[in-house]
Amino acid sequence: MPRIYDKEKEHERYLKKKAKDPERYNRRSNENTKRYRAKNKDKTREQCRRYAKERRKKHKRTPEQLEKERVYNRNYKRKNKEKTRTHYLVLIALKEGKLIKPQKCEKCGKEKNVHGHHEDYTKPYEIIWLCRECHGFIHRKKI
Ligand SMILES: [Zn+2]
Ligand SMILES: [Zn+2]
Repeated sequence: MPRIYDKEKEHERYLKKKAKDPERYNRRSNENTKRYRAKNKDKTREQCRRYAKERRKKHKRTPEQLEKERVYNRNYKRKNKEKTRTHYLVLIALKEGKLIKPQKCEKCGKEKNVHGHHEDYTKPYEIIWLCRECHGFIHRKKI
């Protein structure tokens, strides 16, 4: 491809010239950058401001929305806490042999990657043992 070849040559020439007089070239490129920034300063600043404004507008929430969010976050935290606790309890029960993890998925019978699914995290020992695919399927169906 001749175009690339030319470009390479040009760049080579540029590097050679630069090697002879690096200071001049560095100075020039610095000046170019400075000039570019100065020229575009207002533009850039204005753009930033506009983006920020839009973002604020988009994220402005009514008091009701805020309250909803608060409730959601609270529930989320509580649920997560339950989840962590449940998983912890199951782990202990498995270790102590109080709970036995089956080798097969309860749904499809596959003997790979079987792990517990909880319909209700407040009932840690009510577990459905599923393979990865079936587990994913169950969650997708619920959402
Ligand atoms: Zn699950
Ligand atoms: Zn399965």
